Amino acid sequence: MEEDRYAYDVDYAAVTVPVERYNREFRDAERFLECCRNCGNYGKNWACPPHVFDVERYVTAYRNASLIAVRITPRRKDLGIEEASELLRRERQKLEQRLLRLERETGGRMFGFSGRCYYCGEEECARIQGNPCRHPELVRPSLEACGYNLALTAEKLLGMEMKWGSDGRLPEYLVLVGGVFHDKEEDIWAE
Ligand code: SF4
Repeated sequence: MEEDRYAYDVDYAAVTVPVERYNREFRDAERFLECCRNCGNYGKNWACPPHVFDVERYVTAYRNASLIAVRITPRRKDLGIEEASELLRRERQKLEQRLLRLERETGGRMFGFSGRCYYCGEEECARIQGNPCRHPELVRPSLEACGYNLALTAEKLLGMEMKWGSDGRLPEYLVLVGGVFHDKEEDIWAE
């Protein structure tokens, strides 16, 4: 049987740190908001800035930041950067379900992933027409869109160095970083 062109291997790393430390050492809101302003998704979906909620309250409302990184290593070495979106979509959707469940269980707030929002399929995001999100119960901002340095988070807290592609080729692997802020003291990753 032919192997799925988009087959990949995954490994995970997770950690919990105090939100106060995470904000102090890993957040630079001005710098990363400027990156968002230069992105084609800026203002084009409800997960991206400019946010219509109070970001400072969102990132200071809880005591603990439980963060997770997923390393996605394609089995095929000849995939182009354009094809990376399919790999990312598959793993991202699984991780979003897990984080949304942890958000419900902890009573906290989830941070998702930047880029395109998949919840409306091929339909244009309602934000383009100035309408409210069709799935506010599912859509969350990314850590990056709230000013966090994901490369630093991945490397220093989760032990995964981020890599970037070049010449139209994927890097050796891709890394997604998300999380949940909450007030639980127990290890929420111990499932
Ligand atoms: S769920 Fe739909 S309306 Fe909401 S941000 Fe995503 S694409 Fe836009």
